[in-house]
Amino acid sequence: MDTAVRAEALIDLAAIRDNVAAIRRRVGTAAVMAVVKADGYGHGLVPAARAALAGGASWLGVANVEEALTLRAVGLESPRILSWLAAPGERWKAALDANIDVAAYSLWQLAEIVEAAEHCDKRARVHLKIDSGLNRGGAGPSDWPALVDAALSAEADGAIRVVGLWSHLACADELGHPSIVRQLKAFQEAVEFAERVGIRPEVRHLANSAATLTLPETHFDLVRPGLAVYGLSPIPDATPEQLGLTPAMTVRARFALVKRVPEGEGVSYGHRYVTSRETTLGLVPLGYADGVPRAASNVGPVWAAGRRRTIAGTVCMDQFVLDLDDDSIAAGDEVVLFGPGTSGEPTAQDWADATGTISWEIISRIGPRVPRHYV
Ligand code: PLP
Repeated sequence: MDTAVRAEALIDLAAIRDNVAAIRRRVGTAAVMAVVKADGYGHGLVPAARAALAGGASWLGVANVEEALTLRAVGLESPRILSWLAAPGERWKAALDANIDVAAYSLWQLAEIVEAAEHCDKRARVHLKIDSGLNRGGAGPSDWPALVDAALSAEADGAIRVVGLWSHLACADELGHPSIVRQLKAFQEAVEFAERVGIRPEVRHLANSAATLTLPETHFDLVRPGLAVYGLSPIPDATPEQLGLTPAMTVRARFALVKRVPEGEGVSYGHRYVTSRETTLGLVPLGYADGVPRAASNVGPVWAAGRRRTIAGTVCMDQFVLDLDDDSIAAGDEVVLFGPGTSGEPTAQDWADATGTISWEIISRIGPRVPRHYV
């Protein structure tokens, strides 16, 4: 680690590329949409997108139009980009001008898209979203016929083309969960209805990472993996290695201070850790403002000087403390929060387990103050 660096997120772009290539081999003829929203799950929107494309992704998935426009602005012209979350007054015209596919799951969205398309004399490429049972976004069974009907009229007027029919799964990461079969059936029925009345989609898509890796019947024409692109396992019982994936992010720092303290000293805010003997404390310059969960206080695992340690006391905004138990460590030495796990360091999954969250949250919340360095 460069001695001038306080802390960094090291991003292995070859791992992202190879993870996508591994996913492609698994899904056969289905196309791969790499989900790069939320700054590429913390790995960097544009570098993650480029690496995923190098691995064979032909689509990119983002949550909002700003993310999609950023991808186009850096010259990523050829991949299809789908942006799926919008609020009334969305920048539809900018999206259509930039050749971005948009999602619609309500009549107001469709009306706004049609108006924007007429305004900029472009035919909008629309993916109609079915709520097959997640009960989040999407048109549910009672709203679906009206949405399809409105989309057919807009197609007839030349304002839009329905290029996608899609949905999202609630419990794909819980193998055998009964909702999976129910959602698959609801999705298929909604697709059949739309096709029966004249919708001719280019792509039908349903699968997130867990479904991509474990449920071939959900692949249809296109899969939408996110977490797996970054090399983490969406399935509790499977390691990345077992799935042929390599974690792409390592977060590490250098000790900012190492000092001796006597027995019985309270450590960090609230004194929620008390030294049980005279010991050495090490100060790590990363805190909850950098994405280290405050829930990691007294439980977060960290790798330093060849072994795992546990955070001592409360995680602060910019820093936390380790009880090093020995004095072989000096200021400037490296400490690894998480990485692939191959050298004994904790993984993002270990952090998720320790702090009662999911690995998606651990990686995507590493903040902008932590520089990303690409290898
Ligand atoms: N598709 C949609 C609509 C999503 O919102 C997400 C992520 O939340 C994904 C696909 C990718 O999910 P995962 O990271 O579990 O693969």
